Amino acid sequence: MKILVLNCGSSSLKFKVFAAPDLRWLAGGTAERIGQPDSLLRMAWLDGAGEYPGAAPDHQAALRQVFRLLAQHGVVADPVQLSAVGHRVVHGGDRFRAPLLLDAANLAELRQLTPLAPLHHPANLRGIELAGALCPGVPQVAVFDTAFHHTLPPRAWRYALPEWTWRDYQVRRYGFHGTSVQYVCRRAAELMGRPLDQLNLIVLHLGNGASVTAVQGGHSVDTSMGMTPLEGLVMGTRTGDLDAAVPFYLMRHAGLDAAAAEHLLFFDSGLHGLCGSSDMRAVHARAEAGDADAQLALDVTGYRLKKYIGAYSAALGRVDAVIFTAGIGENDADMRRRACGGLERFGIWLDAGRNDATHSEARRISSDDSPVQVWVIPTDEELEIARITLELTTTA
Ligand code: ADP
Repeated sequence: MKILVLNCGSSSLKFKVFAAPDLRWLAGGTAERIGQPDSLLRMAWLDGAGEYPGAAPDHQAALRQVFRLLAQHGVVADPVQLSAVGHRVVHGGDRFRAPLLLDAANLAELRQLTPLAPLHHPANLRGIELAGALCPGVPQVAVFDTAFHHTLPPRAWRYALPEWTWRDYQVRRYGFHGTSVQYVCRRAAELMGRPLDQLNLIVLHLGNGASVTAVQGGHSVDTSMGMTPLEGLVMGTRTGDLDAAVPFYLMRHAGLDAAAAEHLLFFDSGLHGLCGSSDMRAVHARAEAGDADAQLALDVTGYRLKKYIGAYSAALGRVDAVIFTAGIGENDADMRRRACGGLERFGIWLDAGRNDATHSEARRISSDDSPVQVWVIPTDEELEIARITLELTTTA
């Protein structure tokens, strides 16, 4: 029994194959720059790895090549032998609050959610269509980034807008990164040796996209991303929190139309907008070389993180642990210091030596006597999707 997990983006495709039921990793990889002349497929399996330039002229060719390589290296002889395919789907809207075993009817409903996530949803759907065509008869499961946040109370999900915006247009806070947050919370409970239903956690998922979630007893009670993945923290190219009147001002005075304003906020802002680099490692390198814009970008980003930790400490009342995960959260000691520094009165005492140590395992980085524990816990969204897919396809 083998499960394929697919995360299909507009120009990328990430995949992992797990053995079921123990969910051992068997293979995985990424196709990048799909559709461009310099597309690249990278894949690793238990006893080897390879790079395949030009292997991804489009998503279909990329997935076909993945299946060829999986067969060639003895991972999956034939795609129809997979026991299930689990898909990361960014937006489930208000309709899909839990993972979904896909069929023709609910797939049609899923298509109708595209307006809520026009930048991600079409690629997610493409992945589902392609897997359906290349692995006929294999059960497919959609795992939504939004689903974990279905427990938000109205005071957290409702914007202060008239009811018709929510009733007729589904404008509300949905939240994202839910699969990652759910995985990390379960790991935190294991590592802390306490039941998840007794823990209050603040989880900072800091990758190219970034969000903070307040988790009470295993349930999401507030999260920084909103109706779209734009709100909240400073991200690689997204603004995060912004006075909602700014785009209208720029549309009136700087000649932007709605599409240009949206592009500005999603793709030309954040770290990139502040200093010209969207990759945190590049921002650090420039800041260390004395670049004032890069130093300001780090300042703005760290300050926003600190404000959210403060806000969610207030929302939760008691915090048992602050958890950092994803590329920046797992690797960037400086950003963790900026986020937690000065929060001693909130019970958050970082241990400088533990914070600076570099390794890839889950680890506690607060001092032994810190009232609030601080952890770095590597995320594994694909493993969580595989776990959910297995659960749904074996109980169905
Ligand atoms: P995605 O949201 O695309 O999955 P990741 O979780 O891989 O993103 O995180 C990507 C971010 O992590 C990038 O900004 C990258 O620079 C940052 N990052 C990765 N390693 C480090 C590091 N050692 N120090 C600082 N930032 C890092």
